[in-house]
Amino acid sequence: MRIVMLGAPGAGKGTQATKISKKFGIPHISTGDILRSEINKGTEMGLKAKEYVESGKLVPDELIIDIIEDFIKDDSIKEGFIMDGFPRNIAQAKKFIKMIDKNDLSLDKVVNIVVDYDEVIKRLGSRRICVQCRKITSIDESQDGRCPECGGKLVKREDDREEVIRERLNVYEEQTRPLIEYYKNRGILVNIQGNGTEEEVTERILNNL
Ligand code: ADP
Ligand code: ZN
Repeated sequence: MRIVMLGAPGAGKGTQATKISKKFGIPHISTGDILRSEINKGTEMGLKAKEYVESGKLVPDELIIDIIEDFIKDDSIKEGFIMDGFPRNIAQAKKFIKMIDKNDLSLDKVVNIVVDYDEVIKRLGSRRICVQCRKITSIDESQDGRCPECGGKLVKREDDREEVIRERLNVYEEQTRPLIEYYKNRGILVNIQGNGTEEEVTERILNNL
């Protein structure tokens, strides 16, 4: 199964992609996670990406395309994949279609998680990440400020600050939202209501795959 996740920042793409990836045993490819990891390691790619990621702008397409090209060639995606954070604009989507075409593959579904703006802003403001197990959680679910799963320390993502959140939402509106129409026209888009519990949203997605 080859799936692309779409949705505004904070819609729950990462959380749901993790679950679906486990359920079907297919790799979850999060371009945001890859970039953050490269930034932490201080690699050449990380250095190039840092200022974009931390200010909420898209990193240049070439950089992302290089990452994705490596994955598409990898054996681990034989059974499928779930993309989270890519493609993020029309140019990336067009490149992506060419890439997978060349490998005789096609996309099965594009899952668009729909959540309203007030909710997204609230979620991103209270979002925390566990430094130990990488679980995405929120201050409301933390236990004494610690990860509910493993007790690890929780941190706020650099780009979950208010000014950066606003910029990410602008970028989403201008560059990423047009992908909804793009994939709708290809007949592979499913819209999923993103409100409710994590489990409810997962259930809705599974019913539509
Ligand atoms: P969110 O969806 O919550 O905004 P992500 O973790 O998907 O967060 O992405 C974080 C940041 O990484 C983006 O704001 C952007 O700077 C960069 N990024 C991730 N994926 C891409 C992409 N496909 N193209 C360009 N930049 C990207
Ligand atoms: Zn944890």
